[in-house]
Amino acid sequence: MNASGLSPDQVKLQARARELAGGPVAKRAAEVDRTEQYPWDNVDLLKDAKLIGMTIPTQYGGQGKGWLDAVLAIEALSAACAVTGRIAVETNMGAISAVMAYGSEEQKKLAADMVLSGDKPAICITEPEAGSDANGMTTRADKKGNRYVVNGRKHWITGGGVSRLHLIFAKVFDEKGNEEGIGGFLAIRDETVGLKITKREPTMGLRGIPEAVIDFEDMELPPSALVMPPRGLKKGFADLMTAYNSQRVGAATVALGIAEGAYQLALDWSEERHQFGRPINEFQGLQWKLADMSIKLRAAQALVYDAARSGEGGFPDMLLAAQAKIFTSENAIQVVNDALQFFGARGYSRELPLERMARDVRMFTIGGGTAEVLRNVVAGALLKKKLPQTRDGWGKV
Ligand SMILES: Cc1cc2nc3c(=O)[nH]c(=O)nc-3n(C[C@H](O)[C@H](O)[C@H](O)COP(=O)(O)OP(=O)(O)OC[C@H]3O[C@@H](n4cnc5c(N)ncnc54)[C@H](O)[C@@H]3O)c2cc1C
Repeated sequence: MNASGLSPDQVKLQARARELAGGPVAKRAAEVDRTEQYPWDNVDLLKDAKLIGMTIPTQYGGQGKGWLDAVLAIEALSAACAVTGRIAVETNMGAISAVMAYGSEEQKKLAADMVLSGDKPAICITEPEAGSDANGMTTRADKKGNRYVVNGRKHWITGGGVSRLHLIFAKVFDEKGNEEGIGGFLAIRDETVGLKITKREPTMGLRGIPEAVIDFEDMELPPSALVMPPRGLKKGFADLMTAYNSQRVGAATVALGIAEGAYQLALDWSEERHQFGRPINEFQGLQWKLADMSIKLRAAQALVYDAARSGEGGFPDMLLAAQAKIFTSENAIQVVNDALQFFGARGYSRELPLERMARDVRMFTIGGGTAEVLRNVVAGALLKKKLPQTRDGWGKV
């Protein structure tokens, strides 16, 4: 897929990312899935190709690039290996972008240095009893003298066990036990007593990145760890949701990339495979399938690029990011499923990447805000009001 409106630099960046994706990244993708090992060697490749920390401002050692630049890299990488695409998301968007927007000088320097040296930060929001309703989190940070004491449990934390930098959201309480709202804290694994990785989830796909349960047991943090202060009962949470719009665009991009990769495989195979004495792409049933797949991808790409562009100088627009993520994640699942069908029995074999892609792409209507909850976000924005389930704070993004 290629969309118009890219600058010459963006076209070059896209070509660089595609070259990397089509070469070493594609070669390792099946092994990363099979071994379920985090691909540290791909992290080095991304670092060398300057595809991580791209959105970090230049004064902190980054390239000061926009969301669309990151999207172009993520899209290309995800077509070959969704795990590597996700690493590019989380080293350009999500936690790192929240720290860059809300952090102190010291926090920004710390986070930028860690990401640029190859650390993929973890963002810790979801809890066993607070998923879509993130505002219902019970992890708490109690101010005690000159420190915060954090207790609680997060789960489904991407990178738990490999990430060092953690952005942890908790309800903040003052010395007297009064709730101040949700705040975000920075903590470094292995340097913070009380931060424990307690379980790795056995996931359906995206197996090269661990999804973990993280427990905080009397984890002590200095006030300087507070990146996103609660700012009253609602505002800290609103800041979190605003920053998360970049992560949502990133998630949509990975789904788009996976589907584009699957589409290309189906297109090539449809020429190669002969049945009834002719290439299977001479059958109208498959021609129309290819046409529909290409339309879905083109529309998804336009939504994703548009959402990315909306974030220039800030974060992507909430409505555009939600629309892009819903449409792309749902259609990407269909496109990958259709692509698999082109291969007949071979599509069902683990020797081809289609079955991995089908497992990987299934995640994106769930993580980063479910398609249902994001529809609430879209409807709420269209109606210009908070819907009943979100009146006390936006639902999980
Ligand atoms: C691979 C993966 C990686 C993830 N990574 C992270 C991470 O790094 N950090 C993090 O904090 N979290 C992460 N998550 C968690 C993810 O954000 C949550 O799974 C998601 O927000 C949904 O929460 P839940 O799983 O508890 O589902 P629930 O909230 O229990 O939802 C169950 C069902 O009810 C529906 N539902 C809920 N509320 C409504 C409503 N108001 N209207 C209509 N339908 C509704 C949902 O759409 C869903 O279909 C990850 C999840 C996955 C699968």
